[in-house]
Amino acid sequence: MKAIPHSHSATPFSTRGCANDYAQDKLTASPLPTDPYAWLEPSLATIHRADWYRSVQTIQSRPGATVVLAGQEVINFASNDYLGLAGDQRLKAAATAAIAEFGTGSTGSRLLSGHRELHRDLEEAIASIKQTEDALVFSSGYLANLGAITAIVGKRDLILSDQYNHSSLKNGAILSGAAVVEYPHCDLAVLKTHLSQQRQNYRRCLILTDSVFSMDGDLCPLPALLDLADEFSCMLVVDEAHATGVLGKTGAGCVEHFGCTGKQLVQVGTLSKALGSLGGYVAASSALIDFLRNRASTWIYTTGLSPADTAAALAAIKIVQQEPQRRAQLWENVDYLKNLLQQQLPNLKLLRSESPILCFQLPSATDALKAGKQLRDAGIFAPAIRPPTVPTSRIRISLMATHEAAHIEKLVAVLKDIC
Ligand SMILES: *Cc1c(COP(=O)(O)O)cnc(C)c1O
Repeated sequence: MKAIPHSHSATPFSTRGCANDYAQDKLTASPLPTDPYAWLEPSLATIHRADWYRSVQTIQSRPGATVVLAGQEVINFASNDYLGLAGDQRLKAAATAAIAEFGTGSTGSRLLSGHRELHRDLEEAIASIKQTEDALVFSSGYLANLGAITAIVGKRDLILSDQYNHSSLKNGAILSGAAVVEYPHCDLAVLKTHLSQQRQNYRRCLILTDSVFSMDGDLCPLPALLDLADEFSCMLVVDEAHATGVLGKTGAGCVEHFGCTGKQLVQVGTLSKALGSLGGYVAASSALIDFLRNRASTWIYTTGLSPADTAAALAAIKIVQQEPQRRAQLWENVDYLKNLLQQQLPNLKLLRSESPILCFQLPSATDALKAGKQLRDAGIFAPAIRPPTVPTSRIRISLMATHEAAHIEKLVAVLKDIC
């Protein structure tokens, strides 16, 4: 079988194609193809053969614990809307009011005509929940990661990155031009060895990690990472995308969960998961945020977040702070599902999880697709996650605060049937 490049590791920002490459290729290459796009069909065929082909699925209803998927009502275990806020009346009202007052678009980049008071309100709310000096709102979490990483490290620097990090951290690392070393997932011993051997050869060093690993559901060993960062004078970027609103006493995330609030580090995250909106952020010291406003190209050269998205995220943060019972219900649901699975399906191969993301492993992409299809036929939406997104195929279940006991019981009953 042909090797398929991993999307995680392939650079989307090719630096090839300069004049020198062209001259060399001309001497050695076979005749040029008549159709320069002719490679597309065979490449797609290769993806199909490996059962790695993906396509979109249409949701025809409002977001929620149940949704209509291609005409069928299903229980939704595929959403990042952990607190059920994406369909919340208060977010919708805030978004509509913002549209009525400010229109639909921000009309420019933040440094030109795209800045509104709403943006600043949201940044202050993020800094307040994270207990950092300041925060900066980006147009997506992906852009926040690209912008933060490329601004704070460059060619003379070293990045150490967890193997299971999100694509946005990996591509941010590549785009920065720094030397990038991936360490095995959460392996502090290997990380420490790299640091001892290589740290002194570089100007700055940055450790990159997800806090909740998005496709596995486990947590990074944050206190130990902070100690290593301290020992070897490294910056630390922690991606709180799946933790914000979910973990920690006040919903501030994994940093709060581990009692590390106030430590020197850079938190990035998204407004699009538990916060039910769209956009991303960096929360850090005022000096770092001030630097990003001057140097983060994915913030400077892109349009400010829309008024509707900004207002919805702001409303969501207030709800996270004022309604801890939503988070408590989410964790009750997690415990309920884990207990049911343990009692009724003790042989299911669950990945270690400390979050509302629960995965069970399957031997191949084909098996995962089959299980996903069987679940769906039985009214359960829980997608198969396959390479190249992850190294091993699995069904990924994410819980919401708005799932009812009956939803979780149905999931377990269907799993019992198909396993
Ligand atoms: C979803 C996600 C992102 C990207 O956030 P968007 O706002 O959707 O662009 C970044 N990092 C992690 C770990 C994520 O899970």
